[in-house]
Amino acid sequence: MTFSFHGIGASKGIAIGQARIVKRGVVEVPEYTLNKSDIEQEVSRFRTAVAGARADLGAIKDQIPPETAKDIAAFIDTHLLMLNDSAISKAPIKIIREQQHNAEWALKVQRDALVAVFDAMNDSYLRTRKDDVDHVVNSVQMRLMHTDASMARADGSFSGKIVFADDLTPADTVLMQHQGVAAFVTEFGGPNSHTAILARSLRIPAVVGLHNAGPYLRENDTLIIDGRQGVVLVDPDAQMLRHYRKLQREIERIDSARRKLRYAPAITSDGESIVLQANVELPADFETAVQVGAQGIGLYRTEYLFMNRDNPPDEEEQYQAYSEVVRAGEGAPVTIRTLDLGADKQVDGTRPNAPTSSNPALGLRAIRLCLKEPALFRPQLRAILRLSAHSPVRLMIPMLSTMGELAQVLDLINACRRELDAEGKAYDKNLPVGAMIEVPAAAICADIFARELDFLSIGTNDLIQYTIAIDRVDDEVNYLYDPLHLAVLRLIQMTIEAGHKMGIPVAMCGEMAGDARYTRLLLGMGLKEFSVHPNALLEVKQVITESHVAECQKFTQRVMRVIKSTTRTALLEEMNQN
Ligand code: PEP
Ligand code: MG
Repeated sequence: MTFSFHGIGASKGIAIGQARIVKRGVVEVPEYTLNKSDIEQEVSRFRTAVAGARADLGAIKDQIPPETAKDIAAFIDTHLLMLNDSAISKAPIKIIREQQHNAEWALKVQRDALVAVFDAMNDSYLRTRKDDVDHVVNSVQMRLMHTDASMARADGSFSGKIVFADDLTPADTVLMQHQGVAAFVTEFGGPNSHTAILARSLRIPAVVGLHNAGPYLRENDTLIIDGRQGVVLVDPDAQMLRHYRKLQREIERIDSARRKLRYAPAITSDGESIVLQANVELPADFETAVQVGAQGIGLYRTEYLFMNRDNPPDEEEQYQAYSEVVRAGEGAPVTIRTLDLGADKQVDGTRPNAPTSSNPALGLRAIRLCLKEPALFRPQLRAILRLSAHSPVRLMIPMLSTMGELAQVLDLINACRRELDAEGKAYDKNLPVGAMIEVPAAAICADIFARELDFLSIGTNDLIQYTIAIDRVDDEVNYLYDPLHLAVLRLIQMTIEAGHKMGIPVAMCGEMAGDARYTRLLLGMGLKEFSVHPNALLEVKQVITESHVAECQKFTQRVMRVIKSTTRTALLEEMNQN
């Protein structure tokens, strides 16, 4: 009998295949008290297990296919670092010695203590990172209990399979891809889980957050995965299989046609030239951006340079990293967004004593944090200024909400300019300074901000979160996340109009810009610059080339007048069909 599950579509694409159920699950951990004379032997058993887990991870890293993006290995490096950290490699030894517990139990006690710290952090992104602790702890537990820690070390048993797991480690994800896995489905994890991020980078369809599906799926069940809609169909009938196979072929045909669009200009059918740039964060994204023919980088998220390390990068390291980015982009313009740490962006060893906020998305993040900690901010400003002497860069401020903040940032930039003057270091006196419009207050006052800035860029990910009051990383309220909410549409419209009135460019760099369903609506609102994930760029370009702006405007005006959301969606579909 056919039935379906609905989760979160984490990576687009359709896959059809047999289920391969893999269980990592919660390990039953034995507990017993040691004789004093056995303690040192137990310590050495624990050390051997940690060394074994380390060797396992090292071996997996060596097996990562060379053509796989370098950054994917970085996920495994993170686990190796955690394994070497004394919190995992040494603290359990203390418990074994002081409490006379067996190694498995000591490790479990330490794991629970670490997870409690993560839980108390009250930051949804960090809370999801406790999965990393579990992955690393489990790899040692499996060694202690002589169970094979890696689900994916086996033969080619994942080839063409749809893997269903409660959760997957980055190592498993990479190795399964190497073995030709067709898709991933996980019970846990949200759109920001490692599996989701890696699946998108590796272009493998994935559905995550399929809570409680486990008992209903069996090994070798035939599954259809629709990664766009987050749907998993179990035991589909012949008609469904035909339908999805046709859809698969259609997607492949469209993809290959799109690849040819790489060199085509992004011009609408009525001759409007649109700027189509890429959002990048990891170095691998830069390669893809060049491959798809992006006209520059509209959003370079610099946070990634600050993650997984004990100290923030100094000015020189940042200068070198940004120069590398400009080189990788083959000299195309790059919009560097200043540090957006906090909330959903990881805060780690760089700021070890940072206070925790009870509401991180509304707390000290992004520009608020940078203004509070100029020692963190100034090296970045100086690095960008120095780069501007010889490269086409722009500086973009995230999460601006008051004019006072803007004045402070501009003062700081001027102070850095004076320092560089005194040191005889060059910079572009006209370095464009812009801001992301991603807080409703900034959108409502966009006309005032536009007077002081060289460009605006709408960050819909946050703008939607703050306008509708939904935590963007909380999958419980994901259903409310609606780019078509009239309040969101009105704020976007206001921002575009404010920029145009002041004669400055307005771009959009939130996910909405990369979702081809909204391209015509945005063209109709007067948006002329899109910055999108490189994987979405050609699809958006295709829609642009097939759109007539004057027609889009008429439709958009109608959409903006409709009160009922389902009618708005229907009208949008109609707009997209012509
Ligand atoms: C946004 O908020 O839309 C955005 C592009 O920035 P980020 O997703 O990095 O917060
Ligand atoms: Mg944002």
